Parts: sequence; C-alpha cells; structure tokens
Amino acid sequence: MTTHYDVAIIGGGIVGLANAWMAARRNLKVVLFERTSVAQGASVRNFGMIWPVGQLAGETLTMAMRSRDLWLELNAAGAVELEECGSLHVAHQTDELAVLEEFCNLGSYEVSMHTPAETLQKSSLVNPEGLLGAMWSPTELRVDPRTASANIAKWLAESQDVDTQFNTPIVGIDKKTMTAADGRQWSADKIVICSGSDLQTLYPDLLQQSGLKLCKLQMLKSIAQKETIPNSPHIASGLTLRHYSSFRECPSLQTLKARIAEQTPELDQYGIHVMASQFSNGEIILGDSHEYGDDITPFDSLEIDDLLLRELRKVICLEDWTIIERWHGIYAKHSDLPVYQASPEPGVFVMVGPGGAGMTMSFGLADHAWNTTLGN
Ligand SMILES: Cc1cc2nc3c(=O)[nH]c(=O)nc-3n(C[C@H](O)[C@H](O)[C@H](O)COP(=O)(O)OP(=O)(O)OC[C@H]3O[C@@H](n4cnc5c(N)ncnc54)[C@H](O)[C@@H]3O)c2cc1C
Repeated sequence: MTTHYDVAIIGGGIVGLANAWMAARRNLKVVLFERTSVAQGASVRNFGMIWPVGQLAGETLTMAMRSRDLWLELNAAGAVELEECGSLHVAHQTDELAVLEEFCNLGSYEVSMHTPAETLQKSSLVNPEGLLGAMWSPTELRVDPRTASANIAKWLAESQDVDTQFNTPIVGIDKKTMTAADGRQWSADKIVICSGSDLQTLYPDLLQQSGLKLCKLQMLKSIAQKETIPNSPHIASGLTLRHYSSFRECPSLQTLKARIAEQTPELDQYGIHVMASQFSNGEIILGDSHEYGDDITPFDSLEIDDLLLRELRKVICLEDWTIIERWHGIYAKHSDLPVYQASPEPGVFVMVGPGGAGMTMSFGLADHAWNTTLGN
C-alpha cells in the first residue's frame, strides 16, 4: 500500500520549500521529495540577496515585500539567519546617477539618494574614485544561500511535521501517484512540482512549450577581507540598472543602455552586470553573467570571469582580490511571468521558473498561490 498525503511537493529548492511551508501552515499532511541528498540547484548557488527593490512596482513588488515578511518570520522562528542589510546602487557615471534620481522620484519604493560621503559611510567597500552618489534602499536582506535551503528543510521536518524524502528522484506521476526512480510510490491529493531547471523529467512536453528558458550565471567568491562591515549593504553597480525591471520606467535608462552597447558591447554579449555581497566572515560573493538557451555550456569562461572582475574593480575596492571559489548556477525563467504555473492534470500543479528572483519572490509567490488556486 502506498503512503498517502494531503500534499506532495517535488523539489527541495526554495520554491519547493516555500510551497511545503504554505501547505504545512494550513495543517495539511505534507511530503517533500528532493532528488539529491541536499538541494544543490540555483537555491544554493545564488547571492542570497532578498531584493524587493528590483521588482516591478505593483503586484510584483507587493509580493516581494510579503516574501520579505515571511523570510523575517523564518528568521524569528530560528529556521534561518538573516541580515537586514539594505542595498546601495552606486553611480560612477552621470547617466547612472540620472536613472537613480528618476527612480527615487517614482515614489513607489522606500529609497533615497546618498552623496558620495554618505555612501562611503554606509560601505567602505564602495570605490570612491569617480563616485557620483548612490541610491540607498533599506528593504534588502541577506541570507546564506549555502545553508538556507537545508536549514529550512530541517525546520519544516522538525517543527512543521513535513516528511522530507531526500535522495528521491520522482520519475513519473499518474493519477496522483508518484513513482521514484527505485520504484517506490506515494500518493497525494495535491502534487506541486517545483523542479527548478529540470524541464525534462516530469511533464517535459508542457515545460518545453511553456516559454521557460534556461539561464546560466557565473559567480565568484573573494577571500575574507580583514575589514568586515556589520550588516554590510549589498552593492549593485550602474550596469545592474539594465537588468531589473523596476528601472524600466526611468527615461535615462535608454542613454545608459546605449552607452554600454556602444562602449562595452562585450557586457551585453554575456549579460554582465555586477553585484557584491559581503558576509559576516568577510568573504564576498561577486557576480554575475547571463547566458541563455543554446549558449549554455558546461564549461565556465575565464573571459567572463575577467570581465566581471574588470567591472567590479570600477565599483568596489578590496584589500585582497584573491578569488577562492568560482561556480555557475542555472535557473529557468519565463519571459513574461514572475513564475510559470500550470495544472497538467487534476490535482497536479507546476510552479517553475522564478528566474533571477527566486530567493526574493518564492515565499510571496507560494503564499499567493495557496491563497488562490492551490488553497481551494
Ligand atoms: C548564480 C545565481 C544567483 C542568483 N542570485 C539570486 C539572488 O541573489 N536573489 C534572488 O532572489 N534570486 C537569485 N537567483 C535566483 C534563484 O536562485 C532561483 O530563482 C531559485 O533558487 C530557483 O529555485 P527553485 O526551487 O525553482 O530551483 P532549484 O533551486 O534548482 O531547486 C529545484 C530542486 O528540485 C529538485 N528536483 C528537480 N526535479 C526533481 C524530481 N523529478 N524529483 C525530485 N527532485 C527534483 C532538484 O534536485 C533541485 O534541488 C540566483 C540564481 C543563480 C543561479
């Protein structure tokens, strides 16, 4: 006889964990399946930036702020450790400063402009050479991505009664019965598939035609710096303004984009925009690049790493630029939606592809889904 649950979640990344938590909050009997012994996908390979300031004003920003509240709830419950670090978008070019000032004037975000002196007071990592100012946002959080997923899974198992089944790849679903690679089976009234960048195992036809695309990002970590700043704000450069949809309302963005396209087209070619986040042990996660679809190879490019470091040196100053780790991550992203959702058969739901904002958005997305479709 198979064990039966109210809800089964497939995938132990941040999207799966968020859905497991939302189901457990409703006192449902929940099981979570993860292919590997500990999540190893995008959810452990990222910056750990909870980044509401990058989300489009309106419903998406509201969801990001709801997600932030839920992260803080997890922090208060002892499931994860968070830093309420905020973020600085630094400007070393006049068009970057103009975009940031226009963004502040939108009035939709809790942001303010800082002079160079105020910026350097917030973070001594910022490169003072040619610094024109920065935009300060207090809403961003930092979580350690290396440990967060495992810690949340442990907390769900220990405090929320979620049955966690690691080393369990689910290879088939039929009439609400799930089959693992070794033939074991379970059933559930609701099955939520949160399979991250694996678009090929479960419902491959649906996922291949969903409009989801894979994106590869290269990342670096610096050696621990002697000087550590408590609650060191995340730092984003002017290049980042091209990346997050929240800035698209700013008229000067076109000037900025045109300058990059003309003067440094290699940054557009590899989707490079640089960000830095210093952890309390002094190490700094640095990134990132964006390569899509058929451009993705298993091999990391030294040219991209060199470009990242070239651009990072323009915006931050480190006493020691020794790189101690290099890695890449892959996420699925939908061109129009904050996440792809579908129901391929009764009782089965798919939530895949929060793109580059999964750490920021997943709790808000899951909360919204459980308050609407999934909770019915
Ligand atoms: C380099 C990088 C930096 C990023 N930085 C940030 C950031 O700072 N802030 C932010 O908000 N977002 C960031 N993101 C995006 C964020 O990390 C992703 O959106 C998010 O982690 C996706 O979560 P997920 O659960 O969908 O996928 P994953 O983390 O990939 O998890 C999916 C899990 O499902 C499991 N799985 C798949 N199929 C099966 C199956 N059939 N059976 C069992 N298990 C299965 C996989 O093993 C995997 O563990 C970044 C992403 C990358 C790659």
